[in-house]
Amino acid sequence: MVDVILKKGKEKAVLQRHPWLFSGAIERVKGKPANGDIVKLLNDKGDFMAYGFYNDQSRVALRLLEWDESVGIEENWFRKKVAVAVSSRSHLLENGATNTCRLIFSEADYLPGLIVDKYADFLAVQVLTSGIEKMMPVIIDELQKLLKPKGIFDKSDASSRSHEGLETINQVLAGAHPPEIVKVMENNIAYGINIAEGQKSGFYCDQRDNRHITAMHAKGKKVLDCFSYTGGFTLNCLKNGAASVTSVDSSALAIETLKGNVKLNNLDASKHTVIQSDVNKQLRALREQGEKFDVLVLDPPKYAPSRSALAKASRAYKDLNRLGMLLLNNGGLLATFSCSGAMDIDTFKQVLAWAALDAGKEVQFIYQFCQPEDHPVRASFPEGEYLKGLLCRVY
Ligand code: SAH
Repeated sequence: MVDVILKKGKEKAVLQRHPWLFSGAIERVKGKPANGDIVKLLNDKGDFMAYGFYNDQSRVALRLLEWDESVGIEENWFRKKVAVAVSSRSHLLENGATNTCRLIFSEADYLPGLIVDKYADFLAVQVLTSGIEKMMPVIIDELQKLLKPKGIFDKSDASSRSHEGLETINQVLAGAHPPEIVKVMENNIAYGINIAEGQKSGFYCDQRDNRHITAMHAKGKKVLDCFSYTGGFTLNCLKNGAASVTSVDSSALAIETLKGNVKLNNLDASKHTVIQSDVNKQLRALREQGEKFDVLVLDPPKYAPSRSALAKASRAYKDLNRLGMLLLNNGGLLATFSCSGAMDIDTFKQVLAWAALDAGKEVQFIYQFCQPEDHPVRASFPEGEYLKGLLCRVY
């Protein structure tokens, strides 16, 4: 195993068990590890600090895995991490109401660059680091042993793969190719998932709890679900007795799947309107038409991909939320989200205060949304916290 020597004075983050080591913190590499190899990180005095995946093409040159030298970091280390992550989700799946969730969430589950989502009998994986790519035969074998899936599909088309010098992949890794539409259940609601063609790995299971909580306020209400995708919030609200739901999304495939999902659940399609449009344009059009709603959901894509994009993104979030607030009846509810890791909850609250002021509205925060337990946040890796939201009462 190759030794990598840390620069003097760069120990702190490593000792705090942050899993990323940037290339600038490396003094030298003793030898020529291949990208994805496991290396040993030593301090300038030669003391062991951690094991990690090496990649000289990435700004994150080392992805730290293990801080205890006596633990052999071989096949079994990976098998154990996979098994622990999978078993920690088992209670989410045991009563049959839900058969989809995230089984492995990258750094938060000590497997940097590996995402595994369960869709009923199929698994969709995303491989975002060269280290995990090398370990995939072992990981696939362990997943097969533990879960006996009908098939495992590699949906590694994330742009972040290019930072590691990896190509985009969209193919079967093991077992059968998933059917075009895989039917899954989440909280007793059925969804058709298009793993190969859908966004991300096909579904946003990170909103499971938040959809449920939002829908508890929808009974008898007129709901507008913006950025609806395949209908997570829409279906929960319809099922919970909303008077009507209007869903807006720009993606034709998402809209088509959403219509199918309404049928799949035998929900009353006469209470449902779908609009394929840009949300910002549509909110303005609805305002011109004098429309008002009781509950409004805003679940946009990531506006701030990095910290440097935060100021611009904050303005976009503010404008969006201002428009949303103006479409609510007095005392109506706004369920608003940000999945930008760079935006923390306090900044998001400020953005909403700013939007309220511009809209001439008073806002109460009545509930704080977060990412669900199958997307844990590791204490030593705050960057893993990305999803936040606020349920606001708007006067
Ligand atoms: N709320 C959804 C997930 C939303 S993901 C759920 O519960 O599953 C974000 C969605 O925003 C995607 O479906 C994407 O197609 C859509 N989108 C992105 N930009 C958009 C825009 N400008 N106008 C409308 N929809 C947009």
